[in-house]
Amino acid sequence: MKLKILLVSAEVHPFAKTGGLADISGALPVALKKLGHDIRVIMPKYPCTSKAGQKIQALQMELNIPGFQKKGSLFKSELAGGVPLYLVQHDGYFKREHLYGEPGSDYPDSVERFSFFSQAALEAVKSLDFKPDIIHCNDWHTGLIPVYLKSLYRNDAWFSKTKTLFSIHNLGYQGNFPRSQLKTTGLDESLFHQEGLEFYGQFSFLKGGLMFADVLSTVSPAYSREIQTPELGFGMDGILRKRSDRLYGILNGIDDTTWNPKTDPLIPANYGPKSLSSKKQCREDLIQMVSLKLNKGTPILCMITRLLEQKGIDFIMEARAALDKQDLSLVVLGTGVTKYESFFKQWSRERPDRIATELKFDEALGHRILAGSDMILMPSHYEPCGLTQMYAMKYGTVPIVRAVGGLKNSVQEFNAKTGKGTGFKFKTPQAKFFLKSLEKALSCYHQTKTWKKLMLNGMAKNHSWENSAKQYSRLYRKSLRC
Ligand code: ADP
Repeated sequence: MKLKILLVSAEVHPFAKTGGLADISGALPVALKKLGHDIRVIMPKYPCTSKAGQKIQALQMELNIPGFQKKGSLFKSELAGGVPLYLVQHDGYFKREHLYGEPGSDYPDSVERFSFFSQAALEAVKSLDFKPDIIHCNDWHTGLIPVYLKSLYRNDAWFSKTKTLFSIHNLGYQGNFPRSQLKTTGLDESLFHQEGLEFYGQFSFLKGGLMFADVLSTVSPAYSREIQTPELGFGMDGILRKRSDRLYGILNGIDDTTWNPKTDPLIPANYGPKSLSSKKQCREDLIQMVSLKLNKGTPILCMITRLLEQKGIDFIMEARAALDKQDLSLVVLGTGVTKYESFFKQWSRERPDRIATELKFDEALGHRILAGSDMILMPSHYEPCGLTQMYAMKYGTVPIVRAVGGLKNSVQEFNAKTGKGTGFKFKTPQAKFFLKSLEKALSCYHQTKTWKKLMLNGMAKNHSWENSAKQYSRLYRKSLRC
């Protein structure tokens, strides 16, 4: 059955991206369209959206949002495969340098910005004469949509058959705000209670999504279980346990048109399983670019990540002395918390021959680093899905990961005897276990044939969106029966 789906997201690749959410919001709709669904996407119109190299056209449609004085307007563009993408313009809210706020903080009017955007998405589909069967909401920015539908829009015939799926991409980001700001959302104060929006004295966008959506999903089966525990539930585990019959885990796919070493225009030499030797050129390019001085057999490790506590940078810091003793090099691309940025910067100042740090967000550089490296480190404390390890495998770059969330589901421990597996995993969150895993990887690296087998195993993995999109289709259908 062909479904009418509206996917709502605060960031969509290639129009705006701070992390994996954008990759998913840009790629899943394309795969859903290929399955025959009528899928449309909506996001805010930021200044960066016009730099994505896609044509954007004004629709001359005003969006009147009850309770908000200023109107929004609607623009239209397209994702790959002709998926319609709508952009909500409101210069007061969205014409800003950053998507969410200066690094490390959210803009003070986040409640206004995202309750406006959420209602604008609902008003937009009416203006566009599009009656969605499903509204697929993503992360806290869109958490109030299911709440609006069951309160302010409860008697709106337009949405009488519309169901909602709320996807958690990272439970660590919740959109919790002082109770005094609830009135800004236009929602009634009576929703402020434990079974509603209240979360430890504040009101929570995320809790709104978790409580009011018809179906819930998250981005890997392992993470769907982990968030039901106090350790990784960020205070929401009780709610998630209560709604566990409606909670599903679907591993993200990767966009293999953007992330494919055979065709990637951003890397100096293309290669694939049958032409692996060309990866050497990518290595040479990387060594030159970041001025490393390596022996022929020195492996290059990399990290391409937001430099946040979540990402397990503390394990690397603790392991530094041991890493310095090994014949290896490390290239880091990332931005984030100052103490982690300073750590890597300092390390590369002290060991410029072996350690390179690029403190920026640079997509093209990400591709070059991934192609030129031998291994990628992802020792995360928690990782809802993680995409970079799947990109890495595609590029023959072996992941060394902590066995949590999507990392656990997408990387199989390599067994040199059987030749099966795609990377190396450690479970206990301690630097010494990370080091053990790394040592295992390093010893394999020096057995050329074994390493090649390992690279090829990863490259052969099918992480395409088609599989995940089929699972989402089933979930959408399930939600229609709720
Ligand atoms: P998260 O969503 O937690 O940031 P993911 O692994 O799911 O982690 O997705 C991260 C995405 O952002 C990947 O596409 C990764 O390559 C990219 N990325 C992260 N930091 C940078 C950076 N500094 N420069 C370029 N790309 C980056």
